[in-house]
Amino acid sequence: MTATILDGKAFAARVRDSVAAHVARLTEEKGITPGLAVVLVGKDPASQVYVTSKGKMTLEVGMASFEHRLAEDSSEQELLGLIDRLNADPAVHGILVQLPLPEHLDPDLVINAIDPAKDVDGFHVSNVGLLGTGQKGMVPCTPLGCLMMLRDHHGSLTGKEAVVIGRSNIVGKPMAQLLLGESCTVTTAHSRTRDLSEVVRRADILVAAVGRPEMVPGDWIKPGATVIDVGINRVAAPEKGEGRTRLVGDCHYESCAAVAGAITPVPGGVGPMTIACLLANTLTACCRANALPEPEGMIP
Ligand code: NAD
Repeated sequence: MTATILDGKAFAARVRDSVAAHVARLTEEKGITPGLAVVLVGKDPASQVYVTSKGKMTLEVGMASFEHRLAEDSSEQELLGLIDRLNADPAVHGILVQLPLPEHLDPDLVINAIDPAKDVDGFHVSNVGLLGTGQKGMVPCTPLGCLMMLRDHHGSLTGKEAVVIGRSNIVGKPMAQLLLGESCTVTTAHSRTRDLSEVVRRADILVAAVGRPEMVPGDWIKPGATVIDVGINRVAAPEKGEGRTRLVGDCHYESCAAVAGAITPVPGGVGPMTIACLLANTLTACCRANALPEPEGMIP
């Protein structure tokens, strides 16, 4: 069997187009432009790249982008002061604080200072609680992107055996909640799970969010299963030349693709969906803030 490749790059482009069309209508008909504020503290190189690309894509869909780059040694008071101002600013509909923060800043305290209605990352405890109780809130972007791809491929997910590997607050836990919300039978596996291979073999849907290069081999996969590989791992690629690297997922792509029914590649799978969902969340936050109908089909 050769798996269908779930092309996240193309899907994300469709989501961004649909967000852009909605934004254009909002601006033209209501004079409202959704705005996303991104806060970066310090000089983490990966975070710098993410923030720059988020800003660029925000502008590309016609939204306003507000970038706030703070010094590495910024105080908690300074950061909380900025969040207060963004919370109060009517031009800002979404606020994202790029993680990880420098060690001296408490991420929970900072995230929970964001107005939950503007928490487009969906990490505020209120949004976590809303998701856990099946109420409408803001859903974290990476698992939301995974769910969109699964729904697009399968239609209904009811009754499917879903296994999520990883229990982080950012990916694993909200992913499991979303799949439960779709009436899957959900197992969350993690670093202490016994017989992980046996657990994974049950999965009609596997979501791997671990951060260990190619840890899931093809012979763990149930024939025909759908594999969503969230992992982004940089490994040495001597075949490309000395010192060169490449990106791989948490699943061994070739062997998994030989057994699975569908699979997301790395790169080009889940990754591009994350920023597209961030933009979709910002649009949703803007519509809610203005008591306008929400964009359809984007948010569970
Ligand atoms: P994390 O380090 O917070 O969590 C990893 C989880 O994996 C933990 O819950 C841990 O219990 C589990 N784990 C560790 N070793 C294990 C093992 N041997 N067997 C089973 N489970 C094990 O990571 P995270 O933030 O959830 O990210 C996971 C991966 O997803 C990383 O590679 C990250 O780069 C990637 N990621 C991608 C996107 C995207 O946009 N595509 C977004 C977020 C994270």
